[in-house]
Amino acid sequence: MFKALMANRRDDRVFLSIESIDESDLMPGNVDVDIDYSTVNYKDALAITGKMPVIRKFPLIPGIDFSGTVTRSSHPLYETGDRVVLNGWTLSQTHHGGYAQRARVDGDWLVKLPQAISNRNAMAIGTAGYTAMLALLALERAGVTPDGSDILVTGASGGVGSVAIALLSKRGYRVTASTGRPEQAPYLKSLGATGIIDRSELSTPAQGLGAERWGAVIDTVGSHTLANAIGQTAPRGAIAACGLAQGIDLPTDLFPFLLRGVTLIGIDSVTAPYDWRLECWTRLAQDLAPEKLQLMTREIGLQEVASVADEILQGRGLGRVIVDVNRE
Ligand code: NDP
Repeated sequence: MFKALMANRRDDRVFLSIESIDESDLMPGNVDVDIDYSTVNYKDALAITGKMPVIRKFPLIPGIDFSGTVTRSSHPLYETGDRVVLNGWTLSQTHHGGYAQRARVDGDWLVKLPQAISNRNAMAIGTAGYTAMLALLALERAGVTPDGSDILVTGASGGVGSVAIALLSKRGYRVTASTGRPEQAPYLKSLGATGIIDRSELSTPAQGLGAERWGAVIDTVGSHTLANAIGQTAPRGAIAACGLAQGIDLPTDLFPFLLRGVTLIGIDSVTAPYDWRLECWTRLAQDLAPEKLQLMTREIGLQEVASVADEILQGRGLGRVIVDVNRE
Protein backbone atom coordinates (compact mmCIF):
# COMPACT_ATOMS: atom_id res chain seq x y z
CA MET A 1 0.00 0.00 0.00
CA PHE A 2 1.11 3.59 -0.58
CA LYS A 3 -0.28 7.11 0.00
CA ALA A 4 -1.70 9.24 -2.81
CA LEU A 5 -3.75 12.36 -3.30
CA MET A 6 -6.79 11.13 -5.24
CA ALA A 7 -9.13 13.24 -7.38
CA ASN A 8 -12.79 12.26 -7.56
CA ARG A 9 -15.65 14.08 -9.31
CA ARG A 10 -19.13 14.74 -7.93
CA ASP A 11 -21.69 17.01 -9.65
CA ASP A 12 -19.02 18.40 -11.99
CA ARG A 13 -16.78 19.34 -9.05
CA VAL A 14 -13.38 17.82 -8.33
CA PHE A 15 -12.68 16.63 -4.76
CA LEU A 16 -9.26 15.69 -3.41
CA SER A 17 -8.52 13.24 -0.59
CA ILE A 18 -5.42 11.48 0.68
CA GLU A 19 -5.98 7.73 0.31
CA SER A 20 -4.10 4.47 0.80
CA ILE A 21 -3.75 2.78 -2.57
CA ASP A 22 -2.95 -0.85 -3.34
CA GLU A 23 -0.04 -1.57 -5.74
CA SER A 24 -2.52 -3.57 -7.83
CA ASP A 25 -4.41 -0.31 -8.58
CA LEU A 26 -1.42 1.13 -10.45
CA MET A 27 -1.92 1.53 -14.19
CA PRO A 28 0.01 -0.44 -16.83
CA GLY A 29 3.66 0.49 -17.42
CA ASN A 30 7.11 -1.08 -17.74
CA VAL A 31 8.87 1.01 -15.06
CA ASP A 32 8.00 1.37 -11.35
CA VAL A 33 9.23 4.46 -9.52
CA ASP A 34 9.37 5.41 -5.84
CA ILE A 35 8.41 9.07 -6.08
CA ASP A 36 10.18 11.64 -3.90
CA TYR A 37 8.75 14.93 -5.15
CA SER A 38 6.12 16.41 -7.42
CA THR A 39 5.15 20.08 -7.90
CA VAL A 40 2.15 22.34 -8.41
CA ASN A 41 2.22 23.73 -11.97
CA TYR A 42 -0.42 25.94 -13.61
CA LYS A 43 -1.87 22.89 -15.40
CA ASP A 44 -2.10 21.08 -12.05
CA ALA A 45 -4.09 24.02 -10.72
CA LEU A 46 -6.47 23.83 -13.70
CA ALA A 47 -6.81 20.05 -13.19
CA ILE A 48 -7.46 19.83 -9.49
CA THR A 49 -9.80 22.81 -9.27
CA GLY A 50 -11.75 21.40 -12.25
CA LYS A 51 -11.43 24.79 -13.98
CA MET A 52 -10.45 22.98 -17.17
CA PRO A 53 -11.16 19.34 -18.02
CA VAL A 54 -7.51 18.23 -17.75
CA ILE A 55 -8.43 15.05 -15.84
CA ARG A 56 -10.31 12.85 -18.30
CA LYS A 57 -11.12 9.89 -16.04
CA PHE A 58 -11.95 9.61 -12.35
CA PRO A 59 -10.80 8.59 -9.85
CA LEU A 60 -7.27 9.62 -10.82
CA ILE A 61 -4.09 10.66 -9.00
CA PRO A 62 -3.26 14.16 -10.33
CA GLY A 63 0.23 15.69 -10.65
CA ILE A 64 1.74 16.23 -14.13
CA ASP A 65 5.32 15.58 -13.06
CA PHE A 66 7.52 13.76 -10.56
CA SER A 67 11.08 12.80 -9.68
CA GLY A 68 12.09 9.57 -8.01
CA THR A 69 14.06 6.34 -8.15
CA VAL A 70 13.36 3.30 -10.32
CA THR A 71 12.45 0.16 -8.33
CA ARG A 72 11.59 -2.18 -11.23
CA SER A 73 12.11 -1.89 -14.98
CA SER A 74 11.69 -3.94 -18.11
CA HIS A 75 12.54 -0.90 -20.27
CA PRO A 76 15.97 -1.09 -21.97
CA LEU A 77 17.06 2.41 -20.83
CA TYR A 78 16.32 2.06 -17.10
CA GLU A 79 17.36 -0.14 -14.21
CA THR A 80 16.67 -0.28 -10.49
CA GLY A 81 18.31 2.65 -8.70
CA ASP A 82 18.21 5.09 -11.62
CA ARG A 83 17.07 8.60 -10.65
CA VAL A 84 14.43 9.78 -13.12
CA VAL A 85 12.12 12.66 -13.95
CA LEU A 86 8.81 12.68 -15.81
CA ASN A 87 7.10 15.75 -17.29
CA GLY A 88 3.70 15.57 -18.88
CA TRP A 89 2.58 12.81 -21.24
CA THR A 90 -0.78 11.49 -20.05
CA LEU A 91 -0.08 12.06 -16.34
CA SER A 92 -3.07 13.65 -14.59
CA GLN A 93 -5.15 13.25 -17.78
CA THR A 94 -5.74 9.50 -18.14
CA HIS A 95 -2.75 8.07 -16.22
CA HIS A 96 -2.05 8.32 -12.47
CA GLY A 97 0.28 11.25 -11.77
CA GLY A 98 2.88 12.48 -9.33
CA TYR A 99 0.95 13.21 -6.10
CA ALA A 100 1.70 9.70 -4.79
CA GLN A 101 4.51 7.70 -3.25
CA ARG A 102 4.60 5.25 -6.20
CA ALA A 103 4.13 5.33 -9.96
CA ARG A 104 4.04 2.76 -12.75
CA VAL A 105 4.66 4.39 -16.13
CA ASP A 106 5.80 3.85 -19.69
CA GLY A 107 9.62 4.14 -19.64
CA ASP A 108 9.49 6.14 -22.89
CA TRP A 109 8.12 9.06 -20.86
CA LEU A 110 11.11 9.18 -18.47
CA VAL A 111 14.47 10.94 -18.57
CA LYS A 112 17.45 10.00 -16.37
CA LEU A 113 18.41 12.92 -14.17
CA PRO A 114 21.90 14.39 -14.64
CA GLN A 115 24.22 13.82 -11.66
CA ALA A 116 24.16 17.55 -10.84
CA ILE A 117 20.37 17.71 -10.35
CA SER A 118 19.03 16.19 -7.12
CA ASN A 119 15.54 14.66 -7.08
CA ARG A 120 14.37 17.65 -5.04
CA ASN A 121 15.89 20.21 -7.43
CA ALA A 122 14.36 18.34 -10.38
CA MET A 123 10.95 19.25 -9.00
CA ALA A 124 12.04 22.73 -7.94
CA ILE A 125 12.55 23.05 -11.70
CA GLY A 126 9.45 20.99 -12.48
CA THR A 127 7.47 21.21 -15.69
CA ALA A 128 7.50 25.02 -15.44
CA GLY A 129 11.31 25.21 -15.43
CA TYR A 130 11.65 22.49 -18.03
CA THR A 131 9.27 24.49 -20.24
CA ALA A 132 11.38 27.62 -19.73
CA MET A 133 14.41 25.63 -20.95
CA LEU A 134 12.45 24.28 -23.95
CA ALA A 135 11.61 27.90 -24.77
CA LEU A 136 15.25 29.02 -24.52
CA LEU A 137 16.39 26.13 -26.73
CA ALA A 138 13.69 27.04 -29.27
CA LEU A 139 14.89 30.66 -29.35
CA GLU A 140 18.48 29.51 -29.81
CA ARG A 141 17.42 27.26 -32.71
CA ALA A 142 15.75 30.33 -34.24
CA GLY A 143 19.10 32.13 -34.14
CA VAL A 144 18.66 34.26 -31.00
CA THR A 145 21.96 35.07 -29.27
CA PRO A 146 22.98 37.35 -26.36
CA ASP A 147 23.71 40.29 -28.69
CA GLY A 148 22.81 43.04 -26.24
CA SER A 149 19.16 43.33 -27.24
CA ASP A 150 16.47 43.10 -24.55
CA ILE A 151 14.64 39.82 -24.06
CA LEU A 152 11.11 40.10 -22.66
CA VAL A 153 9.78 37.54 -20.16
CA THR A 154 6.06 37.84 -19.34
CA GLY A 155 4.31 36.37 -16.30
CA ALA A 156 7.70 36.95 -14.75
CA SER A 157 6.93 36.11 -11.09
CA GLY A 158 5.42 32.73 -11.99
CA GLY A 159 7.19 29.39 -12.36
CA VAL A 160 8.03 29.50 -16.08
CA GLY A 161 8.87 33.20 -15.89
CA SER A 162 11.15 32.90 -12.84
CA VAL A 163 13.19 30.05 -14.31
CA ALA A 164 13.31 31.75 -17.74
CA ILE A 165 14.84 34.89 -16.17
CA ALA A 166 17.47 32.86 -14.30
CA LEU A 167 18.38 30.84 -17.42
CA LEU A 168 18.57 33.82 -19.76
CA SER A 169 20.65 35.94 -17.40
CA LYS A 170 23.12 33.07 -16.83
CA ARG A 171 23.63 32.93 -20.62
CA GLY A 172 24.36 36.66 -20.76
CA TYR A 173 21.02 38.00 -22.05
CA ARG A 174 19.61 41.35 -20.89
CA VAL A 175 16.19 40.43 -19.47
CA THR A 176 13.15 42.66 -19.03
CA ALA A 177 10.55 41.14 -16.69
CA SER A 178 6.88 41.99 -17.21
CA THR A 179 4.89 41.64 -13.99
CA GLY A 180 1.58 42.68 -12.46
CA ARG A 181 3.29 42.75 -9.06
CA PRO A 182 5.81 45.61 -8.94
CA GLU A 183 6.52 44.67 -5.30
CA GLN A 184 8.28 41.58 -6.69
CA ALA A 185 10.90 43.72 -8.47
CA PRO A 186 13.66 42.87 -5.91
CA TYR A 187 12.87 39.14 -6.34
CA LEU A 188 12.95 39.41 -10.16
CA LYS A 189 16.21 41.38 -10.06
CA SER A 190 17.75 38.79 -7.74
CA LEU A 191 16.98 36.18 -10.43
CA GLY A 192 18.78 38.28 -13.04
CA ALA A 193 16.22 40.69 -14.56
CA THR A 194 17.81 44.00 -15.56
CA GLY A 195 14.55 45.82 -16.34
CA ILE A 196 11.01 45.58 -14.94
CA ILE A 197 7.84 46.73 -16.69
CA ASP A 198 4.25 46.73 -15.47
CA ARG A 199 2.24 44.11 -17.30
CA SER A 200 -0.51 46.68 -17.95
CA GLU A 201 1.83 48.06 -20.67
CA LEU A 202 1.18 44.87 -22.63
CA SER A 203 -2.19 43.55 -21.53
CA THR A 204 -4.55 45.86 -23.43
CA PRO A 205 -5.51 45.42 -27.12
CA ALA A 206 -2.52 45.76 -29.47
CA GLN A 207 -2.22 48.69 -31.90
CA GLY A 208 -0.73 46.65 -34.79
CA LEU A 209 3.03 47.09 -35.16
CA GLY A 210 4.62 48.82 -32.19
CA ALA A 211 8.05 50.29 -31.48
CA GLU A 212 10.81 47.67 -31.77
CA ARG A 213 11.68 46.82 -28.19
CA TRP A 214 12.59 43.14 -27.93
CA GLY A 215 15.18 40.92 -29.59
CA ALA A 216 13.18 37.91 -28.41
CA VAL A 217 10.35 37.02 -26.04
CA ILE A 218 9.40 34.17 -23.70
CA ASP A 219 5.66 34.62 -23.17
CA THR A 220 3.67 32.71 -20.56
CA VAL A 221 0.54 34.85 -20.76
CA GLY A 222 -0.99 34.73 -24.28
CA SER A 223 -3.86 36.95 -25.46
CA HIS A 224 -3.24 40.73 -25.81
CA THR A 225 0.10 40.42 -24.00
CA LEU A 226 1.42 38.02 -26.61
CA ALA A 227 -0.06 40.13 -29.41
CA ASN A 228 1.71 43.24 -28.08
CA ALA A 229 4.97 41.33 -27.59
CA ILE A 230 4.85 40.13 -31.20
CA GLY A 231 4.16 43.67 -32.43
CA GLN A 232 7.13 45.03 -30.44
CA THR A 233 9.67 42.40 -31.54
CA ALA A 234 12.55 43.66 -33.66
CA PRO A 235 13.11 42.39 -37.22
CA ARG A 236 14.06 38.70 -37.36
CA GLY A 237 13.43 38.30 -33.63
CA ALA A 238 11.64 35.26 -32.20
CA ILE A 239 8.87 34.71 -29.66
CA ALA A 240 8.40 31.46 -27.72
CA ALA A 241 4.72 31.14 -26.76
CA CYS A 242 4.37 28.91 -23.70
CA GLY A 243 1.25 29.87 -21.79
CA LEU A 244 -2.22 31.30 -21.43
CA ALA A 245 -2.38 33.00 -18.01
CA GLN A 246 -4.19 35.98 -19.58
CA GLY A 247 -6.15 34.00 -22.17
CA ILE A 248 -6.05 31.54 -25.05
CA ASP A 249 -6.85 34.08 -27.77
CA LEU A 250 -4.24 35.76 -29.97
CA PRO A 251 -5.67 39.01 -31.35
CA THR A 252 -2.95 40.10 -33.76
CA ASP A 253 -2.39 40.51 -37.51
CA LEU A 254 0.21 39.38 -40.03
CA PHE A 255 2.27 42.59 -40.21
CA PRO A 256 4.94 41.61 -37.63
CA PHE A 257 5.51 38.41 -39.61
CA LEU A 258 5.38 39.95 -43.10
CA LEU A 259 7.12 43.28 -42.41
CA ARG A 260 9.62 42.27 -39.72
CA GLY A 261 10.06 38.56 -40.38
CA VAL A 262 9.52 37.65 -36.73
CA THR A 263 9.11 33.99 -35.81
CA LEU A 264 6.43 32.72 -33.43
CA ILE A 265 7.33 29.36 -31.90
CA GLY A 266 4.86 27.21 -29.96
CA ILE A 267 6.21 25.34 -26.92
CA ASP A 268 4.74 21.94 -26.04
CA SER A 269 6.29 20.34 -22.98
CA VAL A 270 3.85 17.43 -22.80
CA THR A 271 5.06 15.30 -25.70
CA ALA A 272 8.45 16.84 -26.53
CA PRO A 273 10.65 14.26 -28.32
CA TYR A 274 13.12 12.28 -26.19
CA ASP A 275 16.28 13.96 -27.56
CA TRP A 276 14.85 17.42 -26.77
CA ARG A 277 13.94 16.35 -23.23
CA LEU A 278 17.43 14.95 -22.69
CA GLU A 279 19.02 18.13 -24.06
CA CYS A 280 16.78 20.20 -21.80
CA TRP A 281 17.70 18.41 -18.60
CA THR A 282 21.39 18.41 -19.57
CA ARG A 283 21.29 22.18 -20.15
CA LEU A 284 19.29 22.76 -16.95
CA ALA A 285 22.15 21.07 -15.06
CA GLN A 286 24.61 23.55 -16.60
CA ASP A 287 22.61 26.77 -16.79
CA LEU A 288 20.51 26.94 -13.64
CA ALA A 289 22.44 27.97 -10.56
CA PRO A 290 21.14 26.04 -7.50
CA GLU A 291 21.18 29.25 -5.43
CA LYS A 292 18.78 30.91 -7.91
CA LEU A 293 16.54 27.84 -7.72
CA GLN A 294 16.60 28.13 -3.95
CA LEU A 295 15.39 31.75 -4.18
CA MET A 296 12.28 30.78 -6.13
CA THR A 297 11.26 27.58 -4.31
CA ARG A 298 9.10 26.60 -1.37
CA GLU A 299 8.07 23.13 -0.21
CA ILE A 300 4.66 21.76 0.87
CA GLY A 301 3.02 18.41 1.73
CA LEU A 302 0.08 16.74 -0.03
CA GLN A 303 -2.55 18.49 2.14
CA GLU A 304 -1.54 21.94 0.90
CA VAL A 305 -1.74 21.17 -2.82
CA ALA A 306 -5.35 22.39 -3.15
CA SER A 307 -4.70 25.77 -1.51
CA VAL A 308 -1.60 26.38 -3.65
CA ALA A 309 -3.69 25.56 -6.76
CA ASP A 310 -6.17 28.27 -5.74
CA GLU A 311 -3.31 30.77 -5.25
CA ILE A 312 -2.00 30.02 -8.75
CA LEU A 313 -5.37 30.52 -10.42
CA GLN A 314 -5.81 33.81 -8.54
CA GLY A 315 -2.51 34.94 -10.15
CA ARG A 316 -0.74 34.92 -6.75
CA GLY A 317 1.67 32.04 -7.46
CA LEU A 318 5.28 33.03 -6.84
CA GLY A 319 8.14 31.01 -8.30
CA ARG A 320 8.02 27.25 -7.81
CA VAL A 321 6.26 25.00 -5.29
CA ILE A 322 7.67 21.52 -4.58
CA VAL A 323 5.41 18.79 -3.16
CA ASP A 324 7.07 16.28 -0.81
CA VAL A 325 4.82 13.27 -1.49
CA ASN A 326 5.99 11.54 1.69
CA ARG A 327 4.58 14.37 3.80
CA GLU A 328 0.87 14.84 4.43
P1 NDP B 1 2.27 30.59 -12.67
O1 NDP B 1 0.89 30.70 -12.13
O2 NDP B 1 3.37 30.21 -11.77
O3 NDP B 1 2.67 31.99 -13.37
C1 NDP B 1 1.82 32.69 -14.22
C2 NDP B 1 2.12 34.17 -14.06
O4 NDP B 1 1.41 34.88 -15.06
C3 NDP B 1 1.67 34.78 -12.75
O5 NDP B 1 2.61 34.58 -11.73
C4 NDP B 1 1.53 36.24 -13.11
O6 NDP B 1 2.81 36.83 -13.11
C5 NDP B 1 1.05 36.17 -14.57
N1 NDP B 1 -0.41 36.29 -14.68
C6 NDP B 1 -1.36 35.64 -13.98
N2 NDP B 1 -2.58 35.99 -14.36
C7 NDP B 1 -2.41 36.89 -15.35
C8 NDP B 1 -3.31 37.65 -16.16
N3 NDP B 1 -4.62 37.56 -16.03
N4 NDP B 1 -2.78 38.50 -17.06
C9 NDP B 1 -1.45 38.62 -17.22
N5 NDP B 1 -0.54 37.93 -16.47
C10 NDP B 1 -1.03 37.09 -15.56
O7 NDP B 1 2.20 29.59 -13.91
P2 NDP B 1 3.43 28.88 -14.67
O8 NDP B 1 4.56 29.83 -14.75
O9 NDP B 1 3.66 27.54 -14.12
O10 NDP B 1 2.78 28.71 -16.11
C11 NDP B 1 2.60 29.86 -16.92
C12 NDP B 1 1.80 29.49 -18.15
O11 NDP B 1 2.55 28.56 -18.94
C13 NDP B 1 0.46 28.83 -17.83
O12 NDP B 1 -0.52 29.30 -18.72
C14 NDP B 1 0.73 27.36 -18.11
O13 NDP B 1 -0.42 26.66 -18.49
C15 NDP B 1 1.73 27.44 -19.25
N6 NDP B 1 2.58 26.28 -19.36
C16 NDP B 1 2.66 25.70 -20.59
C17 NDP B 1 3.44 24.62 -20.81
C18 NDP B 1 3.56 24.09 -22.19
O14 NDP B 1 3.90 22.92 -22.38
N7 NDP B 1 3.32 24.89 -23.19
C19 NDP B 1 4.14 23.95 -19.70
C20 NDP B 1 4.09 24.69 -18.45
C21 NDP B 1 3.29 25.81 -18.31
P3 NDP B 1 3.04 38.36 -12.63
O15 NDP B 1 2.33 38.50 -11.34
O16 NDP B 1 4.52 38.48 -12.52
O17 NDP B 1 2.45 39.23 -13.71
